[in-house]
Amino acid sequence: MMQCLSASPRANLIVKPRLLRHLSLILLFLLLVLGCGYAGYHISDRNGIRALAENGERQLELNARAVESEITKYTYLPSLLELEGNVSRLALSPTAYRRHHVNVYLQGLNERAGSLAIYVLDPDGRVIATSNWDKADSYLGEDLSFRAYYQEAIKGRPGRLYGLGSTTGEPGYYLAHGLRDGDRIIGVAVVKVRLDTLEERWQRALLDAYVSDENGVIILASDPMVRLKTVRPLDDATKERLARSLQYHWAALEELQLFNRSLMDDGIERVSFATGGVPTDYLLQTRRLEHTPWHLTLLSPLQEQRSAAMSHAMLAAVVTALLAFLLIAWNERRKVIATRLAAREALQAANDELERKITERTADLQASNERLQAEVRERKQAETTLRQAQDELVQAGKLAVIGQMSTSIAHELNQPLAALRTLSGNAVRFLQRGALDVASSNLQNIGELVDRMGKITASLRAFARRTGDNGEASLLKAVDAATMLLQPRLQRTSMTIHRDFAEARLAIEQIRLEQILVNLISNALDAMREQVDRQLWLSGSADANGYQLEVRDNGPGIAPETRVHLFEPFFTTKPGEQGLGLGLTLSASLAAAAGGSLTVRHPDEGGTAFILSLPYPPEPNT
Ligand code: ADP
Repeated sequence: MMQCLSASPRANLIVKPRLLRHLSLILLFLLLVLGCGYAGYHISDRNGIRALAENGERQLELNARAVESEITKYTYLPSLLELEGNVSRLALSPTAYRRHHVNVYLQGLNERAGSLAIYVLDPDGRVIATSNWDKADSYLGEDLSFRAYYQEAIKGRPGRLYGLGSTTGEPGYYLAHGLRDGDRIIGVAVVKVRLDTLEERWQRALLDAYVSDENGVIILASDPMVRLKTVRPLDDATKERLARSLQYHWAALEELQLFNRSLMDDGIERVSFATGGVPTDYLLQTRRLEHTPWHLTLLSPLQEQRSAAMSHAMLAAVVTALLAFLLIAWNERRKVIATRLAAREALQAANDELERKITERTADLQASNERLQAEVRERKQAETTLRQAQDELVQAGKLAVIGQMSTSIAHELNQPLAALRTLSGNAVRFLQRGALDVASSNLQNIGELVDRMGKITASLRAFARRTGDNGEASLLKAVDAATMLLQPRLQRTSMTIHRDFAEARLAIEQIRLEQILVNLISNALDAMREQVDRQLWLSGSADANGYQLEVRDNGPGIAPETRVHLFEPFFTTKPGEQGLGLGLTLSASLAAAAGGSLTVRHPDEGGTAFILSLPYPPEPNT
């Protein structure tokens, strides 16, 4: 819990810079995308405007030429009338006949030339003949002396004017020429042509263009809404003059509402104005028309170019975002690959290190193995030597013991001899009494005892001869034989023997087992000699390794200082001739020769217990 609490602020500290880094990366990414989008827009806009301007320049040139040729197409026409004698004659002395004649002539000429009207004025500015003489709105007799073109032409200068007809209000381009008779101007010939075909042509070509005249009034325009608007503000005097001249009929001559007018770096003018209510941005390019004080203005809408720039901006932003994503993905992949490589290298290094260690350890192990093997060889050698020495020692010990054996034999044979003495004495007495049966049974026992004594001597011989034991004994028989042997002593010194074992077959010679039991039981009898209550327990138990017979008495036990010497030869605590100190040594060596052992136990409740462990005889092969 404490760890968790102390770990969390540190975790926050770790998380925060990472979060900040991510946030700043996202911000950078957005800035980059926006920046590239903006740059894309800017570049595309500039290039688009330049292309639009170049295109506009060409269009302007082309259309200016078209307008110029349209205007100049008729310039010669009024001067042609000077060559027509009837016209001059009418101007000099007008008659009805001549008027009619000239009217018809002008009508025909007008039709062929495709102009709006052709008419002739007298020097006072009154119409004396006209192509539309038979129309309702005929100019005939009209006083047009107020018209500027008349005023110019009467002075011998070419009269040029774009205006709206004073009678019809119909727009047209007036070309006037003073008709000369020698040095005198006898009249003025006027041709009114239409220029609105230009407008139609512009509309068809979807061009936004207009022509403004010397007053700054738009006289021709692709958009009818801007027609007769002024491109610059007119002062009151000019307005009054124009109103008087009826040049533009009764038109209000409002100023064209241009706003956001700005001049760009490369001299291109940008403007926005509302034609249909919505302000639209245009490139504005103007060119003066040759032979006239007029200007042709071309308006190129920036709308399409703007949306193209916008698309380019979006494209640039998307491409940048894509590239950035690719870059991030590539970077991530590079990191993953680098991590993998590092991990692989680390693994390889660890592997190499492991292999090196394994080789080292193997070498070490081999070396220590060899050392161990050498040691094992040495040990084996030492063991063999030791065993030999031990065997020799045992042998030597035994030989030394043999020297003492005569006493031992006497000891071993003492019991049967005592029994023999009693049995034979009894046999004699029974024979004297004539109890032949008992006497013969005694004699039979005597015979058995003699056999036994023979066996004892044989076993002692065997002990000296260092032989193994591969006999087989019956436990029950051995116990019976041992008690029988000790019978004379038991009669003198009574002892309760508790038998707590079942019959068992053991891998030891019968006589040797009896010898061991006689030794153990007689030792118990010796130990308990001084006490009244004498008990002996013979209890057997079996396990997988063999059979254990415990011989326990309730005697005084063995003093701790004597315990360590028990199995030493010639160790005895018995006084005088009573003990040889060979009983336990002999018994232990007989048990060992049979593959078993003899051990001692000192029970807490008192007394002494000897445990005789013996193996079972091998299973007979069937
Ligand atoms: P010995 O009987 O000739 O003395 P043993 O080798 O049989 O030789 O016994 C050695 C000694 O062990 C005895 O002198 C005796 O002190 C002691 N001893 C053997 N058995 C017992 C026993 N059941 N209780 C007490 N002491 C014993």
